[in-house]
Amino acid sequence: MMSSLTEPAERLAEIVPSRIRAIFDRAAELEAEGAHVLHFEIGRPDFDTPRVVKDAAADALAAGRVHYGPNAGTPELRDAIADHLGAASGLTYERDQVLVTIGASEAVFLAIMAFCGPGDEVIIPVPAWPAYEAAVRLADATPVFLPLRASDGYRLDPERVRQTLTPRTRLVVVCSPHNPTGAVLDAERLVALADVLHGTRALVLSDEIYSELVYDAVHVPVAAVSDLRERTLTVGGFAKAFAMDGWRLGWLAGPRALVTTALRVRQFTTTCPPTFVQDAAVVALRETTDERARMRAAFAERRAAALEILARQSIFQVAGADGAFYLYLTYAERFGASDGFAAQLLEEAHVALVSGTAFGPTRAEDYALRVSYACSVDDVREGITRLVQHAEAMVLSGR
Ligand code: PLP
Repeated sequence: MMSSLTEPAERLAEIVPSRIRAIFDRAAELEAEGAHVLHFEIGRPDFDTPRVVKDAAADALAAGRVHYGPNAGTPELRDAIADHLGAASGLTYERDQVLVTIGASEAVFLAIMAFCGPGDEVIIPVPAWPAYEAAVRLADATPVFLPLRASDGYRLDPERVRQTLTPRTRLVVVCSPHNPTGAVLDAERLVALADVLHGTRALVLSDEIYSELVYDAVHVPVAAVSDLRERTLTVGGFAKAFAMDGWRLGWLAGPRALVTTALRVRQFTTTCPPTFVQDAAVVALRETTDERARMRAAFAERRAAALEILARQSIFQVAGADGAFYLYLTYAERFGASDGFAAQLLEEAHVALVSGTAFGPTRAEDYALRVSYACSVDDVREGITRLVQHAEAMVLSGR
């Protein structure tokens, strides 16, 4: 029973434990009992970090790069990130427009803490990576959920943003390529979004952590749309395309005045990212082009293998899926709500995936599952086959 000693702060009331983690923990228990579980639940690459990056970290440690660095990150890494962003967008980034963060997660947190507070509304298109909502609630601001539609490939519709805007809208979250659907936004929609936001006080938090992982699409950086640049904070990082999720490094980039404000939060939270890790990240940006291309090609192969199997059945529908390493599958209500369905798939078919409910509060998420195809192509084939066979068996048995 909760006593006054253990009572959490009120702002934690709606911060619930991650459902993704719960599935992962149960999968580990089944494996300990000897089951062969196919892992589609965790959104991280299965590759090792490129060797050259590990060597750079070891060298930095040996050289004594073990002390505090500047609050905003080392100048070398800020420059390297500025160059990287510039090369991808055709824009010019200066060092003071870049803040090195503890993963993209911290970049999201800093941006929301710096600009959103009580009374402010944040538009979160759903389904969405759950950390946006949590950060908004921790900031005592108000999340406003905007449903993305499967019929529209889960792409953000600027007209629906217009209908959702109020004078209190302080921030609009954009995530392209998108977790959990893999949807990728094109330039036309972003230009329309610029028009919708013109004259408002709404910033754009553009989470582009999957920017390098696009397949049948082209990634357009939101800040590359000139009418959005002054209001856009871009989030990126090393976790996905560089296979460096455990290194905990990312960035927040944008107009100087916005980045400087976010730095005020950082000064009194995490102080600075680890110095030797930042040294290694400079090498990651400058010397891993070939490894990143190889990993991207492997993701493309897995995606194609999964889509090929899914094309031969009609129980699960897939839309979006042009980028990141996710497939967001929807299905008919008769199979039951996704929490129960995901639990059943894990127990009976030993396929671990995440229920749509982890990504948003609307009814559409109740009948959806996220597949993360960040595992071997053989596992992808076997897992998707098991998933389909399990559902087909349910149909046949009338369950
Ligand atoms: N943004 C999105 C859309 C994600 O899916 C994730 C991780 O799953 C992150 C940010 C977090 O990245 P990091 O590990 O760099 O904090």
